[in-house]
Amino acid sequence: MAGLGAAWALDRHPEKFTVHVFEAKGRLGGNGCTVDLPMEDGSHLPVDMAVTSFIPAVYHNFAALLRWCGIEAVPTRFSYAVEYQGSEYAHDTDSTLKRRYRRDLDAFLRMLRVLRAWNTLSKRPSRAATAANPFQYVSVRRVLDWWGISTGFRYAILKPISVNFVLATDIFEMPAALFCRYFDFFDIEASTPMMTWQGGTREIYRKMTAGFQDRVHLDRPVTAVLRDEHGVTIRDAAGCEERFDTVVMACNANQSLLALDRPSAWERALLGRVRYNSELHNHAVVHGDTSVLPADAADEMLATRSNFIRQYGTRPDNYEITYLMHNQQPWIREAGRHCLVTYNPERPVDPDTVVAREWFQHVAYDVRHMNALMPLFPRLQGRRRTWYCGAHTLVNSQELALVSGLSVARQLGAEFPFPDDQEARTWFNFYGRVVQGRAFRRV
Ligand SMILES: Cc1cc2nc3c(=O)[nH]c(=O)nc-3n(C[C@H](O)[C@H](O)[C@H](O)COP(=O)(O)OP(=O)(O)OC[C@H]3O[C@@H](n4cnc5c(N)ncnc54)[C@H](O)[C@@H]3O)c2cc1C
Repeated sequence: MAGLGAAWALDRHPEKFTVHVFEAKGRLGGNGCTVDLPMEDGSHLPVDMAVTSFIPAVYHNFAALLRWCGIEAVPTRFSYAVEYQGSEYAHDTDSTLKRRYRRDLDAFLRMLRVLRAWNTLSKRPSRAATAANPFQYVSVRRVLDWWGISTGFRYAILKPISVNFVLATDIFEMPAALFCRYFDFFDIEASTPMMTWQGGTREIYRKMTAGFQDRVHLDRPVTAVLRDEHGVTIRDAAGCEERFDTVVMACNANQSLLALDRPSAWERALLGRVRYNSELHNHAVVHGDTSVLPADAADEMLATRSNFIRQYGTRPDNYEITYLMHNQQPWIREAGRHCLVTYNPERPVDPDTVVAREWFQHVAYDVRHMNALMPLFPRLQGRRRTWYCGAHTLVNSQELALVSGLSVARQLGAEFPFPDDQEARTWFNFYGRVVQGRAFRRV
């Protein structure tokens, strides 16, 4: 998303820029991955297998992009169920784990009330106010300790119920302020309204690249970025070289570092320190094998739940995660099909029902990343004809990946694409300053 955001915004100025996109895979979108679900009549339905939803209250730029694309935002509802060592926890229902951990749940809700009071500082587009929130510098683990919240509650309820939407394997190492922010939009006890988009994420990327499709180079992983005082040479896996004025590195930090020829000391230090997790969201399988759901509750889950998380083995946080996509993206249900996406299936999934497989990694947002690494990224921007964008420069979401890409385009001389959208502009200015530092060209 970040790279396409930059390319799309630059391409809106054909008099100034000629943009080329090099993508390692045979499709655009990175984590935003849409696959075709075959139907009995021979047609196909688009299904998203990773990026599936957004929150209108905070996705101002992404919502503006959807409007620009003419793509309809579709309401959906997230309803989770967890199976932990033979007991269950689920949104909107009484359950054995809920009864067992009631005292911890109440303590957690009290803790959230205190964090939320401080988080009024972090909700304003002000760097000074955000910096004044002490919970920005304290890990979730420490705050849970302060509130006396048990280890059992952490692994049986808190981690599985939040790991899917917070998207951090190390949720206990995240800054407490950021973790609490997710709970402004997600209820630990009740199912939660969310938004998805009609037609799958690939429709967004298709519309964004419509103007420069002939300059989108799929299946061309960049293996070397060679910079000199006159320009940048991009070498791909087949050894083909092309010459440009400037390069925007929009792949993950570890992938950027692999590709850079003679990275600077700052590039090595910063890109090399971004940590990625693939433990929980590594191998994803799109399928129709309902045996991944508990036999006695499968019908109820297929009808009502958006996500099922099952702990297995002796490690407390080995989870198999299943998205019930027909409940997340309503058009699939209308077509009368069940569609599941299981991350790291522990038991074999019936191969006859498998539609697609993918592999993912995502940034680990710990206290160090947010407070020590992120503020230093502006030091890399624009040096040696190289710019950086992506989830690692802000926070892991489609909104902020897009904003980071738009901020690079802005620095290179492109206009902000949504100037009439007050909220999009305000937050673009706020986050643009984080990614680009003092040199950021405010809108
Ligand atoms: C399982 C999962 C579910 C998610 N769900 C949501 C959600 O519902 N809503 C939400 O807002 N966010 C969600 N996210 C987070 C969101 O996907 C990310 O924040 C966002 O995709 C990050 O975008 P990016 O552009 O930084 O990186 P990516 O999406 O990772 O894109 C990087 C691109 O660089 C390409 N690349 C890598 N190396 C090279 C190379 N050498 N040469 C050329 N190209 C290369 C990759 O193929 C990829 O296309 C989810 C993430 C995951 C992993």
